[in-house]
Amino acid sequence: MALYEYKCAECDGRFDLMRSMSASDDPAECPDCGSAESRRVISNFASITPGASAMSSNPMMDARIASGGGGGGCCGGGCGCG
Ligand SMILES: [Zn+2]
Repeated sequence: MALYEYKCAECDGRFDLMRSMSASDDPAECPDCGSAESRRVISNFASITPGASAMSSNPMMDARIASGGGGGGCCGGGCGCG
């Protein structure tokens, strides 16, 4: 069994399904609209999800994570917590 990604031709929604390799190219039913008009999506990176890509493509978020570390920018920021 493997995880395959499909794209619905009806509502353009994407969804994942666990199925055997022999059934990987079979039509998959869309969980959103119930249509079986879906195509398997060939993706090079299995870790790509809408949520994850939105996070990592946010420069503000990356900068905060990179500079914040464990300190959170509080101590040394003049807030008097130290
Ligand atoms: Zn759909």
